[in-house]
Amino acid sequence: MSEKPTINPIKRIQDSQIENTNPSAAEKEEEEGEATDKSQTNEEKNPVQPYPDYEAEFVDLPSKGIFYKGRFKGLDKLKIRKLNYQDEDILTTKSYYENETLFNEILKGVIVDPNGFRSEQLVPVDRDAILMWLRIGAFGKDYNVPYACDQEECGKKDTRTWDLADIDMPEYNPKFEKELQDTGEVAITLPSGTKVKLTVPSTGRELEVKKMLDTEKRQLKTERNYIITGRLLTVISSVILDGKEFNSLKEIREWMRAGTGLSIIDSRYIQKMAKEIDVKIKTAKTFTCKHCGHVEEDVALPMTIYFFWPEYEEISGISN
Ligand SMILES: [Zn+2]
Repeated sequence: MSEKPTINPIKRIQDSQIENTNPSAAEKEEEEGEATDKSQTNEEKNPVQPYPDYEAEFVDLPSKGIFYKGRFKGLDKLKIRKLNYQDEDILTTKSYYENETLFNEILKGVIVDPNGFRSEQLVPVDRDAILMWLRIGAFGKDYNVPYACDQEECGKKDTRTWDLADIDMPEYNPKFEKELQDTGEVAITLPSGTKVKLTVPSTGRELEVKKMLDTEKRQLKTERNYIITGRLLTVISSVILDGKEFNSLKEIREWMRAGTGLSIIDSRYIQKMAKEIDVKIKTAKTFTCKHCGHVEEDVALPMTIYFFWPEYEEISGISN
């Protein structure tokens, strides 16, 4: 299994230096594959390093790999490198904010695990855990988000703080554990009698759905938001009709549209079950406005530009 060549030029420089000074050791490492933690072994052999250390660690995945398929079934950690200057280029690329692909772009580069796992395969809960780990490593655990009080007569500006180190990793619903472990899906029967399978979508699947619906919206020239349609398309992994399983996005979309369309009763049942199957990092907190005392409960951590750009307000040129 070969590693992506462009991931870390610093590491490659270090490797070639070791090859020059100590060829036998370098060859031995090559035989063992990329899986060995070279940042540690390099340090022992080469205490004076001309380049900054290559920082990578195994990050725990809250899903414990239950939703992954094939050889990634049960994958519970991934080797991730910390953010570097290349990521700063990504963070200052305006189009990534506009088309909401910023986090995906960051994740593409930071997974350095030699097992071949691609960032699009991540389920949202694992993606969020990795993003939090990166955030803490680069900017510390306090995530400050500016906001304005939502009481009309107040409306004063303030900052809300989430302590990222104090967020519990979630457990999945034990009711579905066995089925998810075996298949990564949960089969359910809708109120209408149709059998469908639900899953927790990968980030790649979410992007695929978004693209499909963006195209549809453009063609129909509609302002409709498609939130529910999008949610349904991402969580339904297959539809079983007359004993035949349909699992492509196109087929599922067609099934939803067939006849008078998927009923609201079925739609709501799917959404309710998908929620039970999913695992999410619980970030909700209660905040009290220091100006008027207004209490707002269950405020979930918002993924804003401040997540990887804490001093965003002071920087011009990105927002306009
Ligand atoms: Zn207030």
